[in-house]
Amino acid sequence: MNKESRITIQNVEAGSIADEAGIEPGDILVSINGEKIKDIFDYRYLTSEEALTVCIQKKDGEDWEIEIDKDQYEDLGLDFEEALMDASKSCTNKCIFCFIDQLPKGMRETVYFKDDDSRLSYLSGNYVTLTNMKDEDLDRIIRYKMSPLNVSVHTTNPELRRFMLGSRFGGDVLSKIRKLVDGGISVNTQIVLCRGINDGNELDMTISELSGLFPGMSSISVVPVGLTRWREGLYKLKPFDKAASAEVVQQVENWQKKLLEEKESRIVYIADEFYIMSEIDLPEYTDYEDFPQLENGVGLVALLKREFEEYLESFESDSAVSLFDAQRNVSIATGISVYNFIKEMTDRLEKRYNKLKVNVYPIINDFFGENVTVTGLLTGTDIAQQLKKASIGQELLISRSMLKADEEIFLDGFTLAGLSESLGVKVTVVENNGEDFINKILGKESLQGRFKLKE
Ligand code: SF4
Repeated sequence: MNKESRITIQNVEAGSIADEAGIEPGDILVSINGEKIKDIFDYRYLTSEEALTVCIQKKDGEDWEIEIDKDQYEDLGLDFEEALMDASKSCTNKCIFCFIDQLPKGMRETVYFKDDDSRLSYLSGNYVTLTNMKDEDLDRIIRYKMSPLNVSVHTTNPELRRFMLGSRFGGDVLSKIRKLVDGGISVNTQIVLCRGINDGNELDMTISELSGLFPGMSSISVVPVGLTRWREGLYKLKPFDKAASAEVVQQVENWQKKLLEEKESRIVYIADEFYIMSEIDLPEYTDYEDFPQLENGVGLVALLKREFEEYLESFESDSAVSLFDAQRNVSIATGISVYNFIKEMTDRLEKRYNKLKVNVYPIINDFFGENVTVTGLLTGTDIAQQLKKASIGQELLISRSMLKADEEIFLDGFTLAGLSESLGVKVTVVENNGEDFINKILGKESLQGRFKLKE
C-alpha cells in the first residue's frame, strides 16, 4: 500500500454513514472510487459524489470494500488524525522582510514554522506566495474550488519580487493569479511595503496590474513592513515614519478614488498602522466596504469604533443598563498604536457611568523592540514588568489578539495565569469586538447579578 493512502481515521461520528457501515476509529482509509487520497481536499472532492466505493483496511489488517449510496455532498462522518492529512508545505523563500527571521530565540517552537501552503490559505486565511506551486497545483486549486485564496504579492515586478522573496520562482505571480482568477478562484492580495524598495512607482505599477484583474482579484491591502530589534545580519530596512506614511496614505487614497470611479470598488486598502503613524484621520466605516482585509489590520479600528457605538446605543432603551451604578475600577493593557482610540472610548464610558474608572496603559514592546506598536504582538513579560507598580483596580483586561488561538499563552510563553499571579489581579480576556469590550469593562457578570442585561 502506498504511503499516501495510509490515512488513519481518528473519529467516527455516531449515527453517521461511516458508523452505520461499520467503520471504526483506528481503521485506515485506502481509497475512494479507486482514487488514493493525498489530503483533505481530495477527500472532500471525492466524497461529494452520490455513489462511493470506499476501501478500508480494518485494524486487524482485513480489507473491506464498502458500497455507499448517499446524497451529493452528504458527509460520511469521518475525522482524521491531521486536519490536512499530510504535513503542511513549508516555505522555501528568504524574504528580506520575513517577520519570523526577526524573532528572538527561545519562543515556542511552532512560532518559527514558515508555512506557504495554499490549503492553509483556504482553511485558515494564511497568505501564500505561490512560489512553490506548479501548474498542476494551480489546476488542483481550481478543480477543488479552493476559493478565496490569499496571496502575498508585494510587487508584480518580476525581478524585484524575486529579490524581495529571495526566490528564483518568485517572478511570475501575476500570471499565476490570472490563471486562478480565470479558473473562478477569488484572490485577495497583500503588499508588505518596504520603504525605498517596493513603494513609490513600483507600488503604482503593482496596484495598476493587480486591479486590472478585478473582480476575480478582489482586494489588495498595503501594510507596513514589521521591523523588530532582532535584525542583526539581515537586509537593512528602514521603518516608515510620519512623513513617509503620509505619502503612502496619499498615494493609495488617490488610487481608491480612481478605482471607485472606474470599477465601483476601492479594491486597495491601507493598513490602520499607516494612518496612525501619519496621524491622518482614519477612513469612515463605510469606506472599508465589506472589510475584505481585516486580518491584515485594515479597518480594525473603524470596525471596533462602530461596534462600540452601536452596542452603546442599544443601551439607551435598556433602563437596567442605563441605571448601572456599580463601583468599578479596571485597567486595560494595550499597544501604543491604538492607545488613543481605546482611551477615547473608555472616556465616553466613564462620563456615562459616574462610578466607573478605567485606566488605560500603553505598553512599550521591549520584547520585539519599540518599532512594534500593535497590541497583538505584546508579550506577558512586558505587561508584567511595566504594570508591576501600576494601580490596576479590580481586574486587568487584555485583548484576545495577544494570545495563541487555541491556548491562553502569550508569544513569549507567558501564560495568562502567570500574568495574573505576577500582578496579583484577575486578568480577563476581551474578544475583538465592541460588545465584549463594553461588557468586560462594565463587568457583565456583576451587571447580570444586579440587573437583568438584555441579551
Ligand atoms: S514567505 Fe517570506 S515572509 Fe513568509 S514565511 Fe516565507 S520567508 Fe517568511
